[in-house]
Amino acid sequence: MSRVAVIGGGIVGASAAFHLAEAGIETVLVDNAAAGRATSAGAGIVAPGTSMRNTPGFAQLSQPAVHYYPQLVEKLSALGVDNAGYEVCGKLVVADTPEKAEQLPGNTEIFRQRYRDGMPNIGEIEAITPAQAQELLPTLGEVLGAIFVPAAARVDGTKMRAAMTAGAERLGARIIIGDATLIVDNGEVKAIAVADEIIAIDSVVIAAGAWINQLMTPLHYQLPIAPQKGQILHIEMPEQETTNWPILDWNSSQYQLCFGPNRVVCGATREFDSGYDLRVTPAGMKHILDEQLRLCPGLANGTIAEVRVGLRPYSADERPFIGRVPNHQNVVVCDGHGPSGLMLGPYSGLLAAELARGEAPSIDLSLYALERVARENMHA
Ligand SMILES: Cc1cc2nc3c(=O)[nH]c(=O)nc-3n(C[C@H](O)[C@H](O)[C@H](O)COP(=O)(O)OP(=O)(O)OC[C@H]3O[C@@H](n4cnc5c(N)ncnc54)[C@H](O)[C@@H]3O)c2cc1C
Repeated sequence: MSRVAVIGGGIVGASAAFHLAEAGIETVLVDNAAAGRATSAGAGIVAPGTSMRNTPGFAQLSQPAVHYYPQLVEKLSALGVDNAGYEVCGKLVVADTPEKAEQLPGNTEIFRQRYRDGMPNIGEIEAITPAQAQELLPTLGEVLGAIFVPAAARVDGTKMRAAMTAGAERLGARIIIGDATLIVDNGEVKAIAVADEIIAIDSVVIAAGAWINQLMTPLHYQLPIAPQKGQILHIEMPEQETTNWPILDWNSSQYQLCFGPNRVVCGATREFDSGYDLRVTPAGMKHILDEQLRLCPGLANGTIAEVRVGLRPYSADERPFIGRVPNHQNVVVCDGHGPSGLMLGPYSGLLAAELARGEAPSIDLSLYALERVARENMHA
């Protein structure tokens, strides 16, 4: 039987390991629990149908990814792994300026057309009054218009990665906490090293997030993926049950979503060229709080519960890399999901598992292939 190692146990690697183990492959998942793991800090909005992002490749991957989420939750549940952290919670899209109020009807039509075209996580959109919006989200201040998207969902990345890791383990995967490196012998990757152990492998999936290029060094191969720091603030609302509060979107780089029983998650900064800096900064907090309190003055008396900092694995062309490394066909990369890895990661991990098993992937992966990077940029 062939053995596959997965390096990196964020949402992407946990998914790859789960789907390999599910297919009966001998699987080893290694994670070094790095501070700054994006999956542990991410917000978890799963609603691509209301995104105005039109990066090439985003729609092709997000649509099947979001379709797959409920199936994945069912598979985990069938294994006795519940509490995977995925919930439909709805989303409020509000206009806070006259310009945005003017654009709202046009955008609503775009979302409705996507729903008719089969995009999941939208549902029957309703135009609602600002007063109705405030009923749904009691902290919300004055807005000029609103729509409600009933089928938008959220995922708690910490719970989802733990659930898939537990699922993989139940299916026989070996889980190791440690620092993995590739061992290259005569130009081929035949083993990985973790602490004092050398583990022979037939293939390896690399899902090391923002740390990927450190792992790739022995292959003399680098990808245009860099850490993008995100600071995100968690506020607890005393005596308020936030479980059913919707995601809040005001067409800005910021957003808000809630986790029960009384937590509101406000994010986030997007800090390019951050390197591996994990500090919480006054400028970051000001950036978040100014905007969040302007939209939601009702948050002002909440309790600041924690600030999380994660490093998004940011791909230069904003498209993930899912494919084999040229000249190393048994090395599969699944990385670079940037701001969308909680939404895309479980499905990308499934695709990586298919590649590592030598099977044809469920969708055409040419848009995500490593070969798109100009040859001269790929060599360290
Ligand atoms: C503030 C913030 C908000 C976000 N909001 C959203 C959102 O709303 N929706 C969305 O879809 N996405 C969101 N994201 C993005 C999402 O979190 C990431 O795209 C996703 O989590 C990336 O997952 P990953 O598994 O690739 O990387 P990570 O979660 O970073 O995991 C990589 C893992 O690899 C391990 N590792 C690295 N090197 C090694 C090694 N040598 N040996 C062993 N292990 C190693 C690390 O310890 C880590 O656990 C957000 C991110 C941030 C920071």
